[in-house]
Amino acid sequence: MFACSKPADAPPPSAAAPAATTAAPAPKMPVASLPKVTADGMLAQIKVLSSDEYEGRAPGSPGEEKTVQYLTSQFEKLGLKPGNTDGSYVQKVPLVGITGAEAKPLIVGRGNTLRAGFKWKNDVVAWTKHVADGAQIDNSDIVFAGYGVVAPEYNWDDFKGIDLKGKTMIVLVNDPQIPDPADPSKLDSRMFNGTAMTYYGRWTYKYEEAARRGAAGVFIVHEEKPAGYPFSVVQSFLGERFSLVAKDNNMGRASIEGWLSLDAAKRLFKLAGQDFDALKKQATTREFKPVTLGLKASMALRNTRRTIESRNVLAKLEGSDPVLKNEYVVYSAHWDHYGIGAPDKKGDKIYNGALDNASGVAQILEIARAFTQVQPQPKRSIIFLMVTAEEQGLLGSEYYATNPPYPLAKTLANINIDEVNPWGRTKDITVIGLGASDLDDYLRDAAAEQSRTLRPDPESEKGFYYRSDHFSFAKQGVPALYADDGVEFIGQPADYGKQKRDEYTNNDYHQPSDEIKPTWDLSGAVEDAALMLAVGYRVANADKYPEWKPGNEFRAKREESLKNR
Ligand SMILES: [Zn+2]
Repeated sequence: MFACSKPADAPPPSAAAPAATTAAPAPKMPVASLPKVTADGMLAQIKVLSSDEYEGRAPGSPGEEKTVQYLTSQFEKLGLKPGNTDGSYVQKVPLVGITGAEAKPLIVGRGNTLRAGFKWKNDVVAWTKHVADGAQIDNSDIVFAGYGVVAPEYNWDDFKGIDLKGKTMIVLVNDPQIPDPADPSKLDSRMFNGTAMTYYGRWTYKYEEAARRGAAGVFIVHEEKPAGYPFSVVQSFLGERFSLVAKDNNMGRASIEGWLSLDAAKRLFKLAGQDFDALKKQATTREFKPVTLGLKASMALRNTRRTIESRNVLAKLEGSDPVLKNEYVVYSAHWDHYGIGAPDKKGDKIYNGALDNASGVAQILEIARAFTQVQPQPKRSIIFLMVTAEEQGLLGSEYYATNPPYPLAKTLANINIDEVNPWGRTKDITVIGLGASDLDDYLRDAAAEQSRTLRPDPESEKGFYYRSDHFSFAKQGVPALYADDGVEFIGQPADYGKQKRDEYTNNDYHQPSDEIKPTWDLSGAVEDAALMLAVGYRVANADKYPEWKPGNEFRAKREESLKNR
C-alpha cells in the first residue's frame, strides 16, 4: 500500500550532497563506454507491459499470467539463464488474501465496573495475519511500551526486560522523537537520524517486535504528523490484504495488530488514570520503563481468506570468473500493479501502471540487454529480478530476501528501480537514504562522469527508504541502492520537476490514467539507466564488498550474515 511512494513535493534541499569518498575500485570502464540503453528500447517494453491486454498486472489475475510469460520470453531472447536454482525463470510466492471484520468489539476494562468500548474503524483499525478463521485477545493485560523500540546502536531499549507474552502492547508511532538538548525545538540529530525516519519508526517494525516478544495484541497510536498521513489512510487498510504465508501460518505474529486513533488512545489512558501526553514525554528518554496500565483488553476478528500462488520472475547472467560467479548483484523492479478496479471519470478501470512500474521493469530489461553486450563480461553473476506484490507491501521482494535462491552473504548489492524519470534530462539524481552505504559512492563517481550530482531525499521524515523493494534486501543486511528522479531539469525552469511530479501525483499516481503520455521524454531515464548499469557492473567486478556506512541500522545484520559466509 505504500508501494513506490514518491515524495509528492520535492523542494530542492539547500544542503549539498556529502563530500565524495572513493570506494569504487578498478576496473573502471567509463560510463560512456558501456553499451547503451535506448529510449526506444525502454518505450517499446513499457508499451507492451502497460497495454490494456495486461489488465494492470494484478497478482493472481490473467494479467499476471501474461506478464510472467512476457518477462520469461524476454529473458530467453536475451540468452539469459533461468534465474531460479530449480532451472526455471520463476520463484513461486505463496500469498494469502485476508479480509478481516470485527467479530467482537475492542473492550477495555478492569473488573466489572470500569469498562469502555471502542468503535471499529472510528477508534480502532485492526486485523490479523493469522491464516485462520479468526483471531482474538481475551482479558489481555495492556502495557504501554513507549515507542516499542530496541536499538543497541543508540543504547535504547523501551522494554527493559518486561515479559509481554500474551499481553497487549500500546506503542507510539515513528521513532523516539528526542529533543536536541541545545535547541528543544529541534530533534537531536545524533539519535535516530534526527527528523529522518529510521526503520524503528515504521509500523511494520513495531508489529515485528510485538511478534518477537510473544505479545497477543499490539496497537499503534496514530498521530498525523509523525505518521506522515491522516487516520483515513489507516482506515483504508481495512479490506483484503495480501500477506506472505510463513511456515507457522503466521501464528507467530501477534493475534491482533492494529491502530488506535489519538482520541481513542487518550480515552484509554484516562481510564487507566494516566495522562497520555505525560507518558509520551517520558517515552522520549532512555530511562523510560514500560507502564502496565492495570487494564485488560478483549477483541475478536473474523476472517475471509483465499490463497494464491504468485510469481517473481528472474534471470541470471553468469559471471565470467570461475570463482566469483558464485557471488551476485541483484537488480530488482516490481512488475505488479493494481489490476482492474474502480473506474475513473472517463470510465477507464484498467490500472495500467505505465510509470509504476512498467517503466522500472523496462529499464531493467534494457539494462539486462546492455549487460549481455558488455565486454569484458562481469566477473560476478547478475540476477535480474522482477518481483510480485510490491503494491501489497513489498511481498515478492520480501519472499525473495527471506527465501533466497542464492546466499545473501554472497549477494553484494541490490539495485532497485521503481518508476523512471519520463520528463527529460536532469543535472542531478536523488538517492533515497543518501549516505547509507558505499553504493552511493559508486553512484556519485558514475554520476560525476555525466557531470551530475547526487541529491538527498527531500522528505526523509516520511520514511520513503522503507517503501520499495530494495528495503526487503536492506532488512536482511544486503546493501541496497534506490535512486529517484533528479529535480533540476536541463533547459527547464527551476520548478519544472516539482510541477511535473505534482501533476503525476495528483492526476495519475495509482490511477487508471498512469499510461504512456505523448509528452514523455525518456532521455533522462536513459542517463539514469547508464548509471545503474555502471554501478552494478563495477560492484560485480570490485575487489571488495560494498558496506553499510558506520552507524547504519542494517550494518550489524550484514556483519552477522557475512560471518557465516
Ligand atoms: Zn512502484
